[in-house]
Amino acid sequence: MTTDGLPDLRREPHPNPTPDAERERILADPVFGTVFTDHMFQMTWTEGRGWHDAALKPYGPLTVSPAAAVLHYAQEIFEGLKAYRHEDGSIGLFRAEANAHRLNISATRMAMPHLPEEWFLASIRELLAVDGDWVPSQDEATLYLRPYMIASEAFLGVRPAKEYTYLLIASPAAAYFKGGPKPLTLWVSDEYNRAGPGGTGAAKAGGNYAASLLPQSEAIEHGCDQVIFLDAVEYKYVDELGGMNLFFVYENERVLYTPELGTILAGITRDAIITLATEAGWEVRESRYALDRWRTDAESGQLTEAFACGTAAVITPVGTVKGRDGAFTIGGGEAGKFTMQLRQTLLDLQYGRTEDDHGWITKV
Ligand code: PMP
Repeated sequence: MTTDGLPDLRREPHPNPTPDAERERILADPVFGTVFTDHMFQMTWTEGRGWHDAALKPYGPLTVSPAAAVLHYAQEIFEGLKAYRHEDGSIGLFRAEANAHRLNISATRMAMPHLPEEWFLASIRELLAVDGDWVPSQDEATLYLRPYMIASEAFLGVRPAKEYTYLLIASPAAAYFKGGPKPLTLWVSDEYNRAGPGGTGAAKAGGNYAASLLPQSEAIEHGCDQVIFLDAVEYKYVDELGGMNLFFVYENERVLYTPELGTILAGITRDAIITLATEAGWEVRESRYALDRWRTDAESGQLTEAFACGTAAVITPVGTVKGRDGAFTIGGGEAGKFTMQLRQTLLDLQYGRTEDDHGWITKV
């Protein structure tokens, strides 16, 4: 039996949801990733049966076997997207189908079952139907959505699991930067890699992030905000940050460079920027981009700006790059005009303030 297309859907309302006044207090200044909405969505996949037992239920602990494969071999994938409060009070998602699609790309790489894309979207609709009041309305605040899938079979053999659990939880988030974005200082990791050819860099898999924590700590120790990973073969070309893609701006030539896909995560913000910049008459080159070139062109002034992009922080200027052999700044270390305009363009689209010519917005 199916309800709304989701197999065996059960809706279990929370017996004791957060009171309105308490929710409003939390939403006034939410600390990302620490508070969760009243409900969560859960669905199971079993070999031979497929997806079943969809449930919208009160947010709470999971029951998993201590032998669940995910706890041993990290067979886990996830997505990250946001629900935006539009000016008319409605809720919009930005390119949610692209997240649904990317979850399945990650699933293929990690030998996990695909989740039909319409069920990814239906799970978000179900959650927002009961927890929509958790979408904040202040500037640049959002409800962050975290869909993920774990290997829940109790089995210690190393092979793809025969049972998986898909979950969706949501956490309100304030503006990433209070008072506007501040240019990032980045640390070049010349010792650790994120992903090599044939590896899992293009998958949004938990293990990639576990492996990024040590180099990220090294970045912090050097007084930097985030780590830059180089290619794993020559340690020469820029790949991406721990959680963001990179762009290099050559204003005089109206050219943008961004590292080519392969070992990096195919960011949805990256893809939107390529489309918007191309439409604005810029040439976007997706190609390898050497760290040496970054330094030389920043020092000569030919490179006018550089920025990082991703769902969490939208677009953030890069001011300084540090490594073991010194540092350099881009555009005097200040936020560049092009970067900040593009950031505004993207935010206006996400918050429904400009016409959605690309069909990127889904109202829920
Ligand atoms: N690279 C990595 C490693 C990331 O974790 C993210 C965040 N999902 C991105 C890039 C940016 O992707 P998106 O624009 O889809 O958020």
